[in-house]
Amino acid sequence: MTRKITIPQTSWVIGDGQLSLVVGPCSIESPELLRQMADFLPTLSVQAFRGGIHKLRTQPQSFQGLGEEILDELKNFKLRTQLPVVAEITDVRNLELYAETVDVYQVGSRNMYNYPLLSELGKLKKPVLLKRAFSATLTEWLAAASYLEQQGNSNIILCERGIRTFDTTLRNTLDLGAVAYLKAETDYPVFVDPSHACGRRDLVPALSLAAKAAGADGLLIEVHPLPDQALSDGQQSIDFRTLQKLIQDLATVTRYQAF
Ligand code: PEP
Ligand code: MN
Repeated sequence: MTRKITIPQTSWVIGDGQLSLVVGPCSIESPELLRQMADFLPTLSVQAFRGGIHKLRTQPQSFQGLGEEILDELKNFKLRTQLPVVAEITDVRNLELYAETVDVYQVGSRNMYNYPLLSELGKLKKPVLLKRAFSATLTEWLAAASYLEQQGNSNIILCERGIRTFDTTLRNTLDLGAVAYLKAETDYPVFVDPSHACGRRDLVPALSLAAKAAGADGLLIEVHPLPDQALSDGQQSIDFRTLQKLIQDLATVTRYQAF
């Protein structure tokens, strides 16, 4: 049985058998982008919004996110759409800053091994979406989850986002075997991020459908109104029309459930 995670002050329940869709830009680039999202997302059946506030970029000269200055707009977005917000917490010093606005703290691949951050998140009750590190074994990933559990936070969602393998054709290799394994051997809800898993927007729908068929409890998908103009990860972001079509196609796929 999958443990159910109820997101406080929202109607979002994770792990209840329904596929959760969490969609939005890699980073919240501007108030205008939030407004476009707020106009579009409530017309669809999605459960939550994703968007980076502070970003961890490989290159220091790359866009690092708007940070604190976008938080008021994000609060307005939430009031307007009533959508819960999933955002990556990149630094333990931002916990208080995010507390009021962010409903689910995402721990990114680069921070899966950041045990002091995990321990602090463990002391809170707020749900944590724990991404797999680029090269983490399943044992290492589950050990990272144990850091949260040990401090008393069992509201954990695991998110497979592709791993590094010998094949460098795609950005990463989506490990659907890991999804099936975790569903069989643990009670954690398991999400899949098809965007970072392949790095190509034309492949995102196929991986999303496969993830649902493999039993994923949710999808974390990068969406941008004009992907070619995105300040980060545009090459793997799908546009609004593609998301609409994907949601229709997802409805035709049965989510695998062993019990
Ligand atoms: C993201 O979700 O935008 C992100 C940076 O993901 P990851 O940590 O998986 O690279
Ligand atoms: Mn991204």
